[in-house]
Amino acid sequence: MQLVCLDLEGVLVPEIWIEFSQRTGIPELRRTTRDEPDYDKLMKGRLALLAQHKLGLPDIQKVIAAMGPMAGAKDFLDDLRQRFQVIILSDTFYQFAMPLMQQLGMPTLFCHQLETDKSGFVVNYHLRMPEQKREAVKRFRELKFKVIAAGDSYNDTAMLGEAHAGILFRPPENVIREFPQYPVTMNYAELDAQIRSASERI
Ligand SMILES: [Mg+2]
Repeated sequence: MQLVCLDLEGVLVPEIWIEFSQRTGIPELRRTTRDEPDYDKLMKGRLALLAQHKLGLPDIQKVIAAMGPMAGAKDFLDDLRQRFQVIILSDTFYQFAMPLMQQLGMPTLFCHQLETDKSGFVVNYHLRMPEQKREAVKRFRELKFKVIAAGDSYNDTAMLGEAHAGILFRPPENVIREFPQYPVTMNYAELDAQIRSASERI
């Protein structure tokens, strides 16, 4: 049995923090691990900004629901799920992703958790485990699945390396340069073609 593991942000939905920052007009929320390499500091900063702007989870979810998935994402995913077991591996949080998952037909998603207080403000975050994308693929292999993985950025490369076949989707230039072993796809038709050919190969 073959399994396809897909990254979420940048593959099926927009980058949530960046899009959220634009839609709410809070530029500080654009900061990523490239600006602040300490992830805990980055996340605590984001949560403080949300509180400061009085954005509780329901407000945040409303903004995220309005983003919608990327054009063509649902059709691509629906078609893929006819042929493979598909699992989305993401470093986002369930509470953020759910409005988008509903628009994608509720595919299986493994990601992290946010903690809210009684009034709906996000007070903390909980990563299920470090390196969960790579660890998940490792465990699927132990369960005797053949795994094809696709993602767009640095935090996917360990997962791609662990899979039987790895594919890049609209990656930045530096990722293309540093990981020439993975085919680069720029749209869903190309990604689908690469998944088909990997599926015959592995
Ligand atoms: Mg991504």
